[in-house]
Amino acid sequence: MQLHQLSLVEAGDLLRRRQISSVELTQAMIARLEATEPNLHAYLARTPELALKQAQAADQALAGGTAGPLTGIPAGIKDIICTQGVTTTAASKILENFVPPYDATLVARLKAAGLVMLGKHNLDEFAMGSSTENSAYGPTHNPWDLKAIPGGSSGGSAASVAAGSAFYAIGTDTGGSIRQPASHCGVVGMKPTYGRVSRFGIVAFASSLDQAGPFARSVADLAEVLQVIAGHDPADSTSAPVPVPDYRAALRRGVKGLKLGLPREYFGEGIAPQVRQAVEAAIKVLEAQGAELREISLPHTEYGLAVYYIIAPAEASSNLARYDGVKYGLSRRAEHGSLMDMYLDTRSQGFGPEVIRRIMLGTYALSAGYYDAYYGKAGQVRTLLMRDFQQAFEQVDAIVSPVAPTAAFDLGQKVDDPMQMYLSDVFTLSTNLAGLPGMSLPCGLTSTGRPIGLQFMGPHFAEETLLALGQAFQEATGHHLKHPPI
Ligand code: GLN
Repeated sequence: MQLHQLSLVEAGDLLRRRQISSVELTQAMIARLEATEPNLHAYLARTPELALKQAQAADQALAGGTAGPLTGIPAGIKDIICTQGVTTTAASKILENFVPPYDATLVARLKAAGLVMLGKHNLDEFAMGSSTENSAYGPTHNPWDLKAIPGGSSGGSAASVAAGSAFYAIGTDTGGSIRQPASHCGVVGMKPTYGRVSRFGIVAFASSLDQAGPFARSVADLAEVLQVIAGHDPADSTSAPVPVPDYRAALRRGVKGLKLGLPREYFGEGIAPQVRQAVEAAIKVLEAQGAELREISLPHTEYGLAVYYIIAPAEASSNLARYDGVKYGLSRRAEHGSLMDMYLDTRSQGFGPEVIRRIMLGTYALSAGYYDAYYGKAGQVRTLLMRDFQQAFEQVDAIVSPVAPTAAFDLGQKVDDPMQMYLSDVFTLSTNLAGLPGMSLPCGLTSTGRPIGLQFMGPHFAEETLLALGQAFQEATGHHLKHPPI
């Protein structure tokens, strides 16, 4: 096995036993990244010099016996998360030259835990999309099949972890942007409970939905990353003052006696037959390990997509108002006639078509006379969706479903059909609307070799249950051990 194919836990063991240095591991990963990037385009910025400097520091910590599970492990960060001194573009032209003067809290925590940062991962512009094709800098390709999308919006993160050009990555998930690309690239991804991970220093898309979370190749690897980034942050008023449990211990809980809900609305029409088969087979594996299955109903599921596509664009239109050419935006040019011209030039040249579409949708939904009919109504239906989950979790410990209705589609297949693209997230966005944790993990491949994902959803702050389920599943199956052909 090659170094880049090790799990994070295995690589960490080698480092702590001093069988390899972090500098050696980092050099191997830089070589892997350089070999795969011409085909993948998973990174927007590469930071090999910074990585080697961080690796040297990690080697000192390792020698001094002060190393933790992530010390010296090379990783990548989604380019919507601020990194001090390293460009953070959100894959938008409007932030092309933005170099943050500070780190997002989660980045600062990872640095304190020994981060080696290889670079910044590609995404859909401002995290709006499901295929990474909305990046202003060109799409990422899927390492299982270069013709396929990697999913989105955190497509670069998922593709890179799958291809072994990062041991782990941090993405963001507003409606499915961690879980759906994890599913399409055959890796594990978790959207923690809203408020579990600080959002300070993350470029805002939809503030009542956004949440950051980890990608890794196994559930055990993912638990190590979550352990570091989870927890209250006084700099983010929406982060929750809830103690962080021992996620590694949760891996050993097993699933015996766990009540697992199968929501009828998530197994209806529109699911590709091979996805259905793989998910049903996975559920049987969990049943054989002692999980108790219950059919449940989440009756307002069908409204989720409509509610999301009012609330998310409305919040986006408000969050993106700051890119006006004054504090943020394209560099100002002399020929602006008036203030209005400056706004118009900056925003029409700086934003891509999907971002403009969202701003228009959101502005409309919030405008006088329409606010009550759209945004107000969507908020009410959101409450009904939350209640569906509350009632379900009175009967079950966790819910299981597919992540996406189909495996990865081809690049270019849906770019001209926003509605079709939006449907990629039907099974993931309800958890964002309800603020719940969700996890995606690989459960098989289609006949053409494209990964299929299994989703677990849990009550607020029940990340441990999701990890226990995922670990039990991975101990019984080998889906997560397969590597893409790249
Ligand atoms: N695909 C969804 C959207 O375009 C979700 C994106 C996300 O989770 N950031 O809004």
